Amino acid sequence: MATKYIFITGGVVSSLGKGLAAASIGRLMEARGFSVTLQKFDPYLNVDPGTMSPFQHGEVFVTEDGVESDLDLGHYERFTSTVTSREHNFTSGKIYEQVIAKERRGDYLGGTVQVIPHVTDEIKECIRRISKGVDIQIVEIGGTIGDIESLPFLEAIRQFRLEVGRSNAVFVHLTLVPYIGAAGELKTKPTQHSVRDLRAIGIQPDVLLCRTDRLLAKEIKKKIALFCNVPEEAVMTAMDVESIYEVPLVLAREGLDAILLKLLDLPYRDKNMDEWVEMVQRAKSPADGEVVVGIVGKYVAYEDSYKSLNEALTHGGIANNVRVRLHWVEADNLMDGSLPEKVAPCHGLLVPGGFGIRGVDGMIEAIRFARERRIPFFGICLGLQCAVIEFARNVGGLKDADSAEFNPDTPHPVIYKLRELEGVEQMGGNMRLGKWPCVIKSNSAAQKAYGRTEISERHRHRYEVQRKYMEDLEKRGLRVTGETPDHRFVEILEIPDHPYFLACQFHPEFKSKPIQPHPLFRSFIDACKRHRTTAR
Ligand code: GLN
Repeated sequence: MATKYIFITGGVVSSLGKGLAAASIGRLMEARGFSVTLQKFDPYLNVDPGTMSPFQHGEVFVTEDGVESDLDLGHYERFTSTVTSREHNFTSGKIYEQVIAKERRGDYLGGTVQVIPHVTDEIKECIRRISKGVDIQIVEIGGTIGDIESLPFLEAIRQFRLEVGRSNAVFVHLTLVPYIGAAGELKTKPTQHSVRDLRAIGIQPDVLLCRTDRLLAKEIKKKIALFCNVPEEAVMTAMDVESIYEVPLVLAREGLDAILLKLLDLPYRDKNMDEWVEMVQRAKSPADGEVVVGIVGKYVAYEDSYKSLNEALTHGGIANNVRVRLHWVEADNLMDGSLPEKVAPCHGLLVPGGFGIRGVDGMIEAIRFARERRIPFFGICLGLQCAVIEFARNVGGLKDADSAEFNPDTPHPVIYKLRELEGVEQMGGNMRLGKWPCVIKSNSAAQKAYGRTEISERHRHRYEVQRKYMEDLEKRGLRVTGETPDHRFVEILEIPDHPYFLACQFHPEFKSKPIQPHPLFRSFIDACKRHRTTAR
């Protein structure tokens, strides 16, 4: 079967949840027995989001092959069985980089290089590159209709549709239908305008997903259908939901998957969403109440910065039949003695990844508190590095122990820069990135959680534990329970004499899924649940 394509665009405003819509369509198509893959094009000029601030762009999602990519790829992996790679996320910057490299090589044989056809051809080529053997490819175009930067992508998908034919590609447009309180009405005008803009560049949407806080009445759908030139049955309410994992169910109720099959001329197949429905039920009404996890970090004011982490914690809750309530603690102002009070409601503390010195003292203080008061602790990446510094200073007697990232002149760089990277000061692409194997020691919490000793997890960091310090710290009770097979890098640390104290150098949150919660999040939430009982 030739690959079918579903192109997703967005109008009116950003942040409508195109990524979730794309991921949800992927889920529904897999549930009907089709193989899917998902891809995202971002119109901005950065080559990748690796150097962008989490405050601006949200989390950087890391793929198996070590690409720093858009956080929507995280949704794709959580909702479907797609494993994304460098071929699944392209920015304008990346596309132009490729075109310019070809120009420099002389590939264009002296021709004038232009947006049409050279940039658009490059985009189409990137789409085709991952189509092999895939039944349905879902392609999300980032940004909002009307942005200057997105034009080449829209032009490329317009051409693409013409090339593969009507029954092989559909356009799904996500838009907003706001409720205006003063008028007591839902307003369709923004949708009309954004579809008009799309049609002006030659794209007639086949399906409209209308984000709204209430069900669209028949008359509203009829009006949108008329003005936007879309059949009424293809105007769908994409209602706000409590859990993002409900989105596929809500869209299916509107008949989205059935209409996509029809438009794409695909054979009708029954859908099996049983496992998903059961998971959503558990997520929405857990049997065992709630646990509170304190996240002591730097980007806590902007939740998108820790997208995968939030989701992985939710998954840990699903696995333990509890709701996980996140209690954000700004690490920056914890040194005034306010820490015990600020973390008082928490059943466990987590220090997530991060870059730069801001807030590090607070994180170290939180770790000391968790260690001494025997509160479950989970450290991730920077969280592990801070745990080593804390232990070296307060148990190992190395008062000035630090990371070379925070104090290059420390006499005890317990955390230091990867040796082969010393001297590399360029900001982009100089980290230990992507999947690395790890061997787990027996009789450890990690082994108990994973149920095996050979694992692979994803990384994104420049600094590492300096092994020569670990010998002494191990004697004092901080045990290395995971390392790379060549023993070079420390990957997991635990304090065995503690109810739950585990830190990892990798980012387990990138591999957690709602129907396969990550072992370390499952075990951490389980520890929080046990702590809740003892703390009562
Ligand atoms: N800043 C640390 C490093 O570069 C930790 C990075 C992270 O937490 N992702 O090694």
